[in-house]
Amino acid sequence: MYRIGKEEAEAAARVIESGQLFFVNDGFQEVKNFEREWAEKIGTEYSILLTSGTGALISALVGLGVGPGDEVIVPGYTFMASASAVLAVGAIPVLAEIDETMTIDVKDVEKKITDKTKCIIPVHICGFPCNMDAIMELAKKHNIFVLEDACQADGGKYKGRRLGSIGNAGAFSFNYFKLISCGEGGAVVTNDRKVYERAAIYHDSGCAFRPYSGEFSEPFFMGMQLRSNEVMGAIMRVQLTRMDDIIANLKETKAKLIAGLADEKKITIIPSHDIEGDLGSNLGFRFATAEEGAKFAEMAKAEGFDGYLVANSGKHIYYNWDPIMKHLGAHCEALNPYKLPENQGLCMEYSDDMLPKTLDLVNRTYHINLKCDRSDEEIQKMIDTIKKFCAQL
Ligand SMILES: *Cc1c(COP(=O)(O)O)cnc(C)c1O
Repeated sequence: MYRIGKEEAEAAARVIESGQLFFVNDGFQEVKNFEREWAEKIGTEYSILLTSGTGALISALVGLGVGPGDEVIVPGYTFMASASAVLAVGAIPVLAEIDETMTIDVKDVEKKITDKTKCIIPVHICGFPCNMDAIMELAKKHNIFVLEDACQADGGKYKGRRLGSIGNAGAFSFNYFKLISCGEGGAVVTNDRKVYERAAIYHDSGCAFRPYSGEFSEPFFMGMQLRSNEVMGAIMRVQLTRMDDIIANLKETKAKLIAGLADEKKITIIPSHDIEGDLGSNLGFRFATAEEGAKFAEMAKAEGFDGYLVANSGKHIYYNWDPIMKHLGAHCEALNPYKLPENQGLCMEYSDDMLPKTLDLVNRTYHINLKCDRSDEEIQKMIDTIKKFCAQL
């Protein structure tokens, strides 16, 4: 969450005062309106507001029909949920390298495709757009689905199109740490009616409360009850009106930082597959060596400078994903995707050093989470501090 205020408080109060908190009612219909407004903004036919980005990823995978016997290619640098969502539907995550932009490396994805590959999950990590043209071309060639994980990229773009609208489905998060938020929340988008209906059934309790679910042609099946409520819908509708201004503000700050650091020889600003579509929420720069990266991170930490060496970002690096690395896929062995008979023979060998390119990049790349409404003085101070640390390398 980057901005919140009186408007959200009033919108939430209106719902509470109406007493209509359930997402299907004849009153305010905040969820229904948000879903329509979000689909319009992102540029898809359908959208579902639900309880989390993880729930959005899982519902989208269910919508795409991914399950036991399927491999899903996921980058080795992303929040763990991108990979654990695959386990949640009984499929196996196959890990791929990232490229210099910190997003999934299409060349490595191509190498990891087998006749079991059902889906690729490109992750627009830190709001950095993935190489979507190349991903879509590869997916088309091999007849596999693309599910965009846009959980860190609410509102970002690739070549003028909103992230999440390019693949077969897209997942967003409205968790507290994401660009727009209602504390916890998420959304699935798609243009595919079948994917939408299946995701809608799964996100409900297998009995689809939506009044229009009577028009569904997909048969009902078990659901997880990931439904949203009217307070969430009301807050998200206000947050949505703030989204493009937040992005414009962040991008302005990022452009000033990039300009100010252009002559700093010790670092390279990481490249982008589309700097125009970049969210502006993160600045990434790279050192020549891991030693320099580690030394910079140490100095920054000592002075309380707000940033991190990517290698230190915990559950965002594959070797820290215990459920995957150690095959601890479920609470019960019989449900563990790694033990399911349908999955035997799939790619499920993991090791800490299996993605050397990713390891090299995360050890040399430093990220700064940018905030809204930075003054020129604050931006200059950040530039000066980075240069000061660089001078000591
Ligand atoms: C936050 C995040 C998720 C999960 O979203 P939640 O709303 O926290 O469940 C998934 N993927 C990525 C890349 C994320 O950053």
